[in-house]
Amino acid sequence: MRFDTHTHTDRFSADSKLPVDVLLDRAAALGLAGVAATDHYEPDYPDPRYANLFDVGEYLAALREADRSAAGGPRLLRGVEFGWQDHLGPELDALAATGGFDVLISSVHMLERVDPYFTRTIYDPGRKAVYGAFLASMARMLRASRSFDVLGHYDYVSRYAPWPSKRMAYADAPDEFDEIFRLLVESGRALELNTRTGYRLLDEGVSDWLPDPAVLRRYRELGGELVALGSDAHQAETVGRCLPEYAAFLEGLGFPGIAVFFGRKAQVVPF
Ligand SMILES: [Zn+2]
Ligand SMILES: [Zn+2]
Repeated sequence: MRFDTHTHTDRFSADSKLPVDVLLDRAAALGLAGVAATDHYEPDYPDPRYANLFDVGEYLAALREADRSAAGGPRLLRGVEFGWQDHLGPELDALAATGGFDVLISSVHMLERVDPYFTRTIYDPGRKAVYGAFLASMARMLRASRSFDVLGHYDYVSRYAPWPSKRMAYADAPDEFDEIFRLLVESGRALELNTRTGYRLLDEGVSDWLPDPAVLRRYRELGGELVALGSDAHQAETVGRCLPEYAAFLEGLGFPGIAVFFGRKAQVVPF
């Protein structure tokens, strides 16, 4: 029973090359029980060329139409990846209030309106300062809004880091990690492990490409049980990529399964 709970489709995410039908074909070929389409919803993105917004009613209708689970295909969960900024609480509340979603992921892609994907000078203050600042921003997001279920890719900023060892370690920002974990646990929300961070490192030939186990150990120590797992696929080849490796990693750390949200309620699906 494996689910890929973070993917992007080409009709609703400008940076995706993955048609929803291909997503479902790949999911079926991989034997997945289901996939969540979690297209980018990014109000007030600083650069209008990369803004990504869509009509929510049209989106949900398209996903309902694409779903072939009644005919025995993998289940298509309806989700969104919301691009958080500190002033966007009302937009996220409004999105959540429309209903019809299985899962809402909220992600921090920017610090002070700068996305590291486009602007590498963001790393100038150094590793601990930058990783700490991103994590602190996620803690603010968790405090500011209850309108989402999953904290997306905590390690996004590490993907484009200029230093030799990119992987975000617990030791880089222990206080900020602890704060995030406490906020997740007290509100019953899930930490996401996003395999795209890992397989990017894998493709660069890095040997320690899986997340820092100290991060997950500490999460568990503070009562964390809910871990969501997604490939962040934007193309057919990466659907479901490295889910088995991450699942084995989590199982080895004593987690009981993977958190999957159905109708915005978490269910732990055993490995
Ligand atoms: Zn993202
Ligand atoms: Zn994503």
